[in-house]
Amino acid sequence: MTGATQKGGCVFCLAIENADHPDSLIVHQARHNFVLLNRYPYNNGHIMIAPYKHVSSPVEVEPEILEEMMVLFQRGIQALRTAYKPDGFNMGMNLGKCAGAGIEEHYHLHVVPRWNGVTSFMSTLAETRVIPEDFSVTLSKLKPLF
Ligand SMILES: [Zn+2]
Repeated sequence: MTGATQKGGCVFCLAIENADHPDSLIVHQARHNFVLLNRYPYNNGHIMIAPYKHVSSPVEVEPEILEEMMVLFQRGIQALRTAYKPDGFNMGMNLGKCAGAGIEEHYHLHVVPRWNGVTSFMSTLAETRVIPEDFSVTLSKLKPLF
C-alpha cells in the first residue's frame, strides 16, 4: 500500500489498540471504519470517522471502505441531531499539512455540529477550543445512537 507510514504513535491506531481502555474516546466500531470523539473538540459532539487502515489518503482504500465512511457520516449527523439539536454541521477532511491536517498520516473525516451565530468553517478546522462537557457524558449520549 503506497503512502502507508509507521503506525507507531498514530493517535487513530492507538485509539483502536486501546478501544477497551476506560478513557477510550471511541463511539462506534463498524466493519472498516470507526467513530471517535476529538480529544481537542471545537464543539461538543465534534466526532471523527477514520478507517482501521493506517493510510494517508482516501485514494489508497477500496471503494467499500469509503462507502461505509459515508454511511457512518450519515448516522453521525442523525446521532448528533438527536443528542445536541445543532442548527447545522461542518464535515471535512484535511489532506496534507498545508491543508491543516493535524495527523496527516492517517486520514479522517471531521463532523462538527454548529449552532447559529458562531464563526466560519475555516476556523472550525483550524482551531481547537476547550469546552465544558465531559467526554464520558458525550460518549453516553452518542454511543446508543449509532
Ligand atoms: Zn494510524
